[in-house]
Amino acid sequence: MSKNTITVENLTHHYGTRCALDNLSLTVFQGEIFCLLGPNGSGKTTLFKILSTLMPLTSGTVNILGFDLRTQTKAIRKLLGVVFQHPALDIKLTVRENLRHHGHLYGLNGKNLSHRISELLEKFGIVNRANDLVEKLSGGLQRRVEIAKAMLHSPSVLLLDEPSSGLDVGVRRQLNDYLKLLVETEDILILLTTHLMDEADECTRVGILDSGRLVALGTPEELKAQIGGDVVLIESDNSETLSTAIVDKFNVTPVLIEDRLCIECQNAHEFVRDVVAAFPDEIQAIRFGKPTLEDVFIKLTGNPFE
Ligand code: ADP
Repeated sequence: MSKNTITVENLTHHYGTRCALDNLSLTVFQGEIFCLLGPNGSGKTTLFKILSTLMPLTSGTVNILGFDLRTQTKAIRKLLGVVFQHPALDIKLTVRENLRHHGHLYGLNGKNLSHRISELLEKFGIVNRANDLVEKLSGGLQRRVEIAKAMLHSPSVLLLDEPSSGLDVGVRRQLNDYLKLLVETEDILILLTTHLMDEADECTRVGILDSGRLVALGTPEELKAQIGGDVVLIESDNSETLSTAIVDKFNVTPVLIEDRLCIECQNAHEFVRDVVAAFPDEIQAIRFGKPTLEDVFIKLTGNPFE
């Protein structure tokens, strides 16, 4: 097994009779920001808990940087930095105090710890907030402190569960820039989970989960290239009848997703013009655009994302 990868092979996980992960296999490489994208209930947290050693591996194999997750859990824990979905900072302490206390838990102290704290405060753009109570910080800044905390002991793997949950788009983008800076400046592999398309779009590679199965794996560009052309969405009061009429008149295959027709086509601007001219009364709303990761999910599963 490679010393530079996380390798998951044939991982299956059941809660009682419910299958949360179904024969999952994937490899994550050092230097990547790898994203597990999936709707609620797709198995992201289950995989996150198994990789972060919070839940035992019951079926399949996982190797993290050369260590077997089943037999070398202790060694693996030392390699991991983990950021949970729910905040784990002491809001009544300052940023620096939070970092210092966490450093002590990892056996860091003295000049080494002070130096590492300064380095991370700098890296995450929070030097001037170091002496503020965490409760005074915005959600986005608190998230940065969380990640800085997880990075204190210089882990080789950073695992983040829905890091952007609850943050608005601008702050999400900023957070992503900090993650990019981390992979560029530290010897690290980052794996995060998300249900947000824009967050997944910024990652090196994306694995799409649906009902515990890995339905796609690739760069965001590779995944979106699976869709031939543009995507047109049509809303109608009678989608099924309209779908049949469109099939009869145009060389396209509409897919009905929750009352909306989803159509892949080349030259969508011409198709939109023609379809609106052909069915002016049946179409309530129409929009088109370049394919998104959500379109990829719909194409692969036949279901809406949420
Ligand atoms: P996600 O993080 O993508 O929302 P989860 O890993 O939390 O998905 O859940 C995957 C599936 O496992 C879902 O069907 C969920 O209901 C089920 N599940 C999760 N945790 C438990 C549990 N502790 N007991 C029983 N079922 C669970």
